[in-house]
Amino acid sequence: MRAPAFYLGLSALARRGRGRYAGYMTLLCAWLICAFTSASGADWDGAGAHALFSKAGNMPVPQAEAASAGKGLSYSDVCSAGGSDSGDRREARRLAGLKAIQREVRPKFSALVKKYKLPEPDAGDYMGSALRSISFTPPYPYNTAKAKEALAAFAMALEAAALKRAPLPDYGVIKSEMIARIRASGVSDKTKAELVRRVELTELVLPSRYITDFITTGGELWPLIDQLASDQAWNASYDDLGGASNPKLERNQSVVVVFPGMLLAEARGGPHLDFILAHETAHSIDSGKFPEMYAPLSACMRDNFGVSFRDWSEPAADYWADDVIASRAAGAGGLDYLRKSYEVICGTSGEAGSVLEHVTQMDHPSGAYRIENILGRNPLLRGALGLPPENSACRL
Ligand SMILES: [Zn+2]
Repeated sequence: MRAPAFYLGLSALARRGRGRYAGYMTLLCAWLICAFTSASGADWDGAGAHALFSKAGNMPVPQAEAASAGKGLSYSDVCSAGGSDSGDRREARRLAGLKAIQREVRPKFSALVKKYKLPEPDAGDYMGSALRSISFTPPYPYNTAKAKEALAAFAMALEAAALKRAPLPDYGVIKSEMIARIRASGVSDKTKAELVRRVELTELVLPSRYITDFITTGGELWPLIDQLASDQAWNASYDDLGGASNPKLERNQSVVVVFPGMLLAEARGGPHLDFILAHETAHSIDSGKFPEMYAPLSACMRDNFGVSFRDWSEPAADYWADDVIASRAAGAGGLDYLRKSYEVICGTSGEAGSVLEHVTQMDHPSGAYRIENILGRNPLLRGALGLPPENSACRL
């Protein structure tokens, strides 16, 4: 769990260097590198310290070049122009997006400030200041229900503007593809049924609905103030959200939350959320929920690639997400589709490949590890790209 940080406004968020995607590294997910926990302890991914790609990352790479890589898809095939500054480029897009929506959002925020009787925000950081004021203006600090209503209203204003620039992809397509991959896997029929059930139950929500329908405590609510404009997505599990005590949840239902800042960091025709949504959805069925099922997979990866993780949830989430993306890659532009999907993990370091790689157990794979050892050996992907079969692929 991460301590709430209520006092970072939107502008401060713009400078953020945290995230679970950071999470992936930071939490566990963020997909990217996941990291650490979100406010609710959920598993998330965001750009944060991790990053994404840029236009240059979308430059076509001939399939013959990828095929010549031999063993597997190389990191440079997917992240050729991402490099260590890909996160900066993604952050620049998010900031430009925030700036672009100010004219639309500020009048809405102003109306909400009056409606909820909040103090006049600072001119220089109007949106962030308005949000922060909820945390210290009575009765909100002492009344979670009223604070939820106010914060959800602000979140809805941000979401509406962000969605005009970067609509959410069709989540039903992502879930259907993942369910098809589960049904085609080698796990038992009984386990397949439960995996499918959990994926079907997973809901994609924006923060306003997350706040209104799924948050039950102030401890979960307050940290969202500084996350609304951040470049992150996460999977809030059943347990994260209170389990059976939460009347809105089916048993073991997870919720995937995408924040407006992540929408703004994407671009039409450029990077997109397919991999992020697939990865977050797969956290609904990761190794934290089904440790025995993933034991052979983690043992195979440990033996073949010489890397072990204290928590295999990230490789497990990538496993299914890569299957989804690989299934779609053949009909969606091959390598170009991969570059747009995986931008968010290019330039992320993790611990793999570091001097500590063979002397310590790690939590988070690097972008290179994820692309070369997990994605690059995926048989569906290799088939889609015309690469030869890879005997060292680890499969369920
Ligand atoms: Zn993750």
